[in-house]
Amino acid sequence: MTVALPFIRKSKRLSLQATLTVFIVFVTVLLVCILALNAWHARAEKIRETETATSNMAKALAQHAEDTVGGIDNLLVSMEEMLERDSWNPLQLERMNQFLRQRVTDLPLLHGLFVYDEHGQWVANSQETLRTDLNNADREYFIFHRTHTDSGPHLGPPIRSRSTGDWIITVSRRLEHADGNFAGVVLATINMQYFSAYYKDFDIGKAGAIVLTTDSGTLLVRRPFDEAVIGGDISNGPVYQFYKRQGSSGTAILTANIDRTERIYSYRHLDRYPLLIAVAQSTDEVLESWRNSTMRFAFFSAMVLLLLWLLGARLVHQITVRERAQSELRTARDDLERSNGELAALALLDSLTGLANRRRFDAALDDEFARAMRNQTSLALIMLDVDHFKKYNDRYGHPQGDECLKEISKILKTATARTGDLVARYGGEEFVILLPGTDRAGAAAVAERVRLAIQALNMEHAETPDGIVTASLGIAALIPQRQQNSPQQLVHAADQALYKAKEDGRNQSCISTQASADN
Ligand code: GH3
Ligand code: MG
Ligand code: MG
Repeated sequence: MTVALPFIRKSKRLSLQATLTVFIVFVTVLLVCILALNAWHARAEKIRETETATSNMAKALAQHAEDTVGGIDNLLVSMEEMLERDSWNPLQLERMNQFLRQRVTDLPLLHGLFVYDEHGQWVANSQETLRTDLNNADREYFIFHRTHTDSGPHLGPPIRSRSTGDWIITVSRRLEHADGNFAGVVLATINMQYFSAYYKDFDIGKAGAIVLTTDSGTLLVRRPFDEAVIGGDISNGPVYQFYKRQGSSGTAILTANIDRTERIYSYRHLDRYPLLIAVAQSTDEVLESWRNSTMRFAFFSAMVLLLLWLLGARLVHQITVRERAQSELRTARDDLERSNGELAALALLDSLTGLANRRRFDAALDDEFARAMRNQTSLALIMLDVDHFKKYNDRYGHPQGDECLKEISKILKTATARTGDLVARYGGEEFVILLPGTDRAGAAAVAERVRLAIQALNMEHAETPDGIVTASLGIAALIPQRQQNSPQQLVHAADQALYKAKEDGRNQSCISTQASADN
């Protein structure tokens, strides 16, 4: 009985679990790469957008500062012309005072307009009263113009007004006598408040910054306002250093010295004045929405991947369990097949002697008989019976009788070396030897060899005339003819010959004459 399980086949290729694991790892790596790449692109895009925005703002604010300072400077030029044209008598100076008052009233950004003589004494101003007791010869702009012959405007560091206490930015020009000597200074002061208020309206986030400096690095205006840094020197700061390297305009991510905040900076140098404007947005703020959406997406993806891994693990587990079951089934099948084979072999063997049993002999006899008939070859059969075996048993005991039968079996096995010959235990102490392709003479020779070999064993058997174990053999052979002969005929003939051998005195072989005359 064989159990066929053709669907169970062990694959030599990569196992299903390994393939699945590789696939899941591949999908995970792919997804992580796509997410990382996407996030990186989105971040770069956000920064690029901010760079464009700060750059545009810097351009607009530079234009604003340019227009503001330009307007003030034009006023100073007018004042300069008036003063150089007219003599400085009290009447004209009073007219000048009125002119200056009117200008300051017209332009709210103007904090004040002033004229100083060559000694720093107040000559005219936009205020109600002219403080002739004050002297501004110690001011930075005054010293600058006294010592420099430049005819252009000069932007001074931010200062607190002596008259009002407000933070102001100064724009000044040098006055000269007809001979070119220093004659004094015309000065306009701008309310820093004006710039601060203007810069306040720009959307640069909470941590953004707008900085207006002179191109020598003096900080004039800053949003967010911090009194401590106004007028300070930022020439060592990263923005200024970047400007020095880069030129009139540029954009970069820098960390300010003032508040250690990383920002995306765009700066621009004014075309006509030595001023620098920088607009910045905090990188943290700019990237906040990007960071949040990236985190959300990463979390969502992590959940999806977790689910994928869980499903994958479950699947791998199920496949492993199934394969284990299949493997066990395979082993069981192999075991079954093996024991089936053993059983089948056992079923055809005689347990005492290890020779073929009667069942095997019957089958072999039928097969060989049919073959001999087909091929028209001679088939011989020797039938052997141990002499006086009953007495042997009676005398030496049954177990000893078994041993005797085993010894005889060995003789039979060695006596029939030809393949195709079959030795079988026919029953009890009777054995048969089937000899295909063998005629009577050949079979008789084999029978004699066997008989003599048993005799030569010289096994004691006190109950026989010779005193040793002997056997009698009957021989028959025939070329089977269709519808004339049968296997039973051959057995019968051998049996008859054996009977004859017994009758004739035992320990001899007798050839049948009845099976077939032509053999
Ligand atoms: P003969 O010379 O006429 O053949 O005399 P015999 O005693 O051999 O004849 P018989 O057929 O009457 O006796 C056969 C005996 O063989 C009977 C039985 O005790 C014995 N025998 C049969 N099978 C076995 C066996 O498997 N083991 C043993 N020990 N004895 C067996
Ligand atoms: Mg017998
Ligand atoms: Mg016998």
